[in-house]
Amino acid sequence: MALIYFYDSTELDKKHLSDALAETDHSWEFIEDKISNDNINQDAEVISIFVTSSVTRQMIEAMPRLKLIACRSTGFNNIDFDAIKEKGITVVNVPTYGESTVAEYAFTLLLALQRKIPEVLAAENQQFSPQQLNGHDLDGKTFGVIGTGHIGQKSIKIANGFSMKVIAYDAFPKNELQDSLNFKYVNLDQLLEESDVISLHTPYLPATHHIMNSERLNKMKAGSILINTARGELVDTKSLIEVLDSGRIGGAAIDVVEGEALLNHHEETALLRSEVLPEEVFRHSVEISVLKKMPNVIVSPHNAFNTVEAIQRINVTTAKNIMNFWYGDTPNKVEPIKKPIGKLLVVRHAESEWNATGQWTGITDVHLSEKGFKQSALLGQSLKNIGIKVDIAFCSEQIRTRETLEGVLNASQQFDVDITPNSSLNERDYGDYTGKNKWEIRDLLGEEAFNDIRRGWDVPVPNGETLKMVYERVVPFYLDKILPLLAEGKNVLIVAHGNSIRALMKFIESIDDSDVGELEMIFGQIVIYSLNGEGKKIDSLVAKINTTLPNA
Ligand code: NAD
Repeated sequence: MALIYFYDSTELDKKHLSDALAETDHSWEFIEDKISNDNINQDAEVISIFVTSSVTRQMIEAMPRLKLIACRSTGFNNIDFDAIKEKGITVVNVPTYGESTVAEYAFTLLLALQRKIPEVLAAENQQFSPQQLNGHDLDGKTFGVIGTGHIGQKSIKIANGFSMKVIAYDAFPKNELQDSLNFKYVNLDQLLEESDVISLHTPYLPATHHIMNSERLNKMKAGSILINTARGELVDTKSLIEVLDSGRIGGAAIDVVEGEALLNHHEETALLRSEVLPEEVFRHSVEISVLKKMPNVIVSPHNAFNTVEAIQRINVTTAKNIMNFWYGDTPNKVEPIKKPIGKLLVVRHAESEWNATGQWTGITDVHLSEKGFKQSALLGQSLKNIGIKVDIAFCSEQIRTRETLEGVLNASQQFDVDITPNSSLNERDYGDYTGKNKWEIRDLLGEEAFNDIRRGWDVPVPNGETLKMVYERVVPFYLDKILPLLAEGKNVLIVAHGNSIRALMKFIESIDDSDVGELEMIFGQIVIYSLNGEGKKIDSLVAKINTTLPNA
């Protein structure tokens, strides 16, 4: 039936795959090398590759009969999906084959690092002193897991077996697992600050590129350890070297690293023979060389998957994937990775004339104060420094948000951005309290009632709105109008008010009704959200300006 080419095939692969396909009338060939323009066959109907191969557009166009790519891996970011889509080619993967295999390896690396196993094994010949072989216990330490999918969950179970305290961060938390697996979800900053060991188990996606960047690596607890068995691109390698070199963190054990093909002797030699050596490849080559020389680092060559049992599971699933495809059944079909979602930038309007006098403004139209105009310009300069290009901007119907927005865009030299005012983003209507001095109302009602009105979730004001009512207009607007723009990859800037922004943040950050009082978007900040497809926060960054400007 089909002509199949298995690339990157080892002796074990040949045996497993030949056994699994023996009863079929497919024909197949094994090629030990990774796929290249030189070893493709134009008659191939199915190709099967491992993570060491990359399938380019040029290769796809040279195989006009190709119908199926069977990845012998979970990851599939090594395929040109634009070309796949155009040609109507199906891609299948092996969704799970080795959650225990990879999690066990993460602990193998961790123990080797913490107990200095490479030095211990060399000790006989090289006279290490007991002090030089002095390691660390795992018992009682905090294990931080980033990504609580198949492998992350197994590693949590293993950490429990070592009596470690486990905390985790996931962009899509599975809260129901916390009790049964004995761990607690925390935000990413808390995980960085509290963990003695951090283990990465997220896929490589646009949103996880350099998830461990310089800022986050520098937030890690002093002396802590980073384990990466997921993907090299999750870590900014140069910054990792900096934090290791400075002694800021205690060590790293990595099975995957940016440019990891260079760990393979043949790859290095092929590169030397090539006419051009791209700057990035050269940099990764130096980084890997430095890492391998560091005493507190263990580097292994993408080997976490590599057990007899795991490879058998990969090959059996791959053979089934191919056989099933021929009967129209593709349970392990993978879809192209979507374009990255745009950034959402949120700014509270700058100081208005009534902010300056302490009056409750609500939906009354009040201009910015002179200080407010200056703050807007400073926010704009800050935006220019961050370097994010705004594609579209929204504000409320109140003039103070529009004036702030124009100030921000002008000072960041983004003059061509469409501005759309919308009533859904209006300030909370403060009803009978509008125009009253806040501090006089506080004296009249008492501190507690005053704070309830300002901060509570469903606390009415006479003839005005509760925060819940604001939420009920802000969130549908966000989901219907703003999220589709973000999903197209557009960067959206919103300038709104204390309460309309609180309502938005409550949704984006999944804050409980009872905790909404803690939420505050303060003046003089730009909050930059990275979001998932549901419009919920994955991460955020805050740029601040000095708001204590002297009044002119
Ligand atoms: P999985 O899909 O079961 O779990 C991934 C988890 O990451 C999910 O819980 C998901 O919600 C979470 N996640 C997604 N985006 C995130 C983000 N932006 N921030 C935080 N969390 C996010 O995957 P898995 O089977 O556990 O595998 C994890 C990764 O391990 C794979 O993607 C692969 O890259 C890597 N892997 C490496 C080897 C190896 O040999 N070194 C072998 C197998 C898998």
